[in-house]
Amino acid sequence: MTEQLTHFIDGARTQGTSGNFQDVFNPATGESHSQVPLASAAEVAAAIASAKAAFPAWSAKAPAKRAAVLFKYRDLLISHSDEIAQLVSKEHGKTLDDVKGELARGIEVVEFACGIPHLLKGEFSESVASSVDTHSFRQAVGVVAGITPFNFPTMVPMWMFPVALACGNTFILKPSERDPSSVLRIIELLHEAGLPKGVLNLVNGGKEAVDEILTNPDVKAISFVGSTAVGEYIYSEGCKHGKRVQALCGAKNHMVVMPDADMDKAVDALMGAAYGSAGERCMAISVAVAVGDKTADALIEKLSPKVQALKVAPYTDPSAEMGPVVTKESKERIEGYIQSGVDQGAKLVVDGRGLSLQGYENGYFVGGTLFDNVTTEMDIYKDEIFGPVLAVVRTDEYETALQMVNDHEYGNGTAIFTRDGDAARDFTSRVQAGMVGVNVPIPVPVAYHSSGGWKRSLFGDHDIHGMEGVRFYTKLKAITSRWPSGIKEGAEFNFKAGKDH
Ligand code: NAD
Repeated sequence: MTEQLTHFIDGARTQGTSGNFQDVFNPATGESHSQVPLASAAEVAAAIASAKAAFPAWSAKAPAKRAAVLFKYRDLLISHSDEIAQLVSKEHGKTLDDVKGELARGIEVVEFACGIPHLLKGEFSESVASSVDTHSFRQAVGVVAGITPFNFPTMVPMWMFPVALACGNTFILKPSERDPSSVLRIIELLHEAGLPKGVLNLVNGGKEAVDEILTNPDVKAISFVGSTAVGEYIYSEGCKHGKRVQALCGAKNHMVVMPDADMDKAVDALMGAAYGSAGERCMAISVAVAVGDKTADALIEKLSPKVQALKVAPYTDPSAEMGPVVTKESKERIEGYIQSGVDQGAKLVVDGRGLSLQGYENGYFVGGTLFDNVTTEMDIYKDEIFGPVLAVVRTDEYETALQMVNDHEYGNGTAIFTRDGDAARDFTSRVQAGMVGVNVPIPVPVAYHSSGGWKRSLFGDHDIHGMEGVRFYTKLKAITSRWPSGIKEGAEFNFKAGKDH
């Protein structure tokens, strides 16, 4: 039977009134098991009004009281992690262990946000002039919104709302309509932890729902994570309507492999970073830049049997290393890119097309794919494929490899594998990317640091979570006070430096 999913507004699940629904599929079987309602603009406006009404009381609570909800929430997330993992895998396709990792990363942000009383502490200067003191502190922005992608259906929302709520904001969450069940459940758990109704409202929807968020004057800030085309639209429209916007977008992450690298470790790193989660990660490595033909030959020789042996299976098979991709359209798009690589002259070493698993013939499976001799003019080099496709590019020297990373339109993550500290230091200093790994293939910072790319991988001024998250979700206020005993007689018409008072 087809399950009807819901929004979560004013503290309860609600079907909505738009009458628009979209099918949600199990990518391993290709079967639709539920339908998600797509909110109309009027429904989103009502959810925003509910968040606006909840703002005065929530923002006035002591930060420690807001943190108390998050402490409880953390425990609920941990005790429900098996249930949440099942919900993610059934709609996304990734393995259960991979979901547990995603959840753990989201829970780290909740733990960071539990420290909000400390994080919101302001600054104080005594006697900036005679009898004058200045202090500053940060206050919540108001109603803020988060628009999130399919690939980390629980972690990416948790990059946003724990910090935003801890700071005193109220929140509108518009998750991906492709895998909506797990995020609905984690929002329900947040209310079990004691979040008052209306403080966070979840609305499912497509462009109509997003456009209401972009234009509604009661939304003060928007966090977006998703593709560059949509992110650029959200950034420009949101800014046009006077909102603060951070838009974390697409990627093409390069891993430079130096001739002195430990080749076995580099190959293991590439296998996990290129094919884990079927390559559907914003920090997946999709390009390996081999410095020197000997390095490239060694990489290809060691990679190809491992790519061929990748265990591609549904998440219900505990031995699965990689599941299906998320939709039929994704599978077709990825296979189209593989064909374009062949047409444009790359050497197809392992072809993941045409994979059919017994009992899962209608699933959206694409096998691990490996290209050699890829050049920078090819579409498989330039575009984010978001699938299990690794391109090996050959180059003669380190400088060309570095230049290649820097010339690419995206600058989300990158890595260098080397034993040479000098090369690693030079790379971390000169490379144009927001997250850099030295012998670490997926260098996503922990929750108490901040995460974000450069170039066309991020629009806006703030990275996400960590202190950048606190800054994004708060406004700074500076207070200057003089007590009556320090006020001089007579009007003062000239502007003065503090020390001249
Ligand atoms: P997407 O851009 O298709 O969707 C993201 C969100 O935008 C969803 O909520 C979706 O409903 C909404 N949306 C889609 N089309 C829209 C439109 N025309 N107008 C308004 N809203 C629209 O992204 P996706 O396919 O769900 O996710 C994959 C992308 O996300 C990849 O590009 C990946 O690199 C990126 N991503 C980036 C990061 C990062 O930290 N930089 C993290 C995760 C994913």
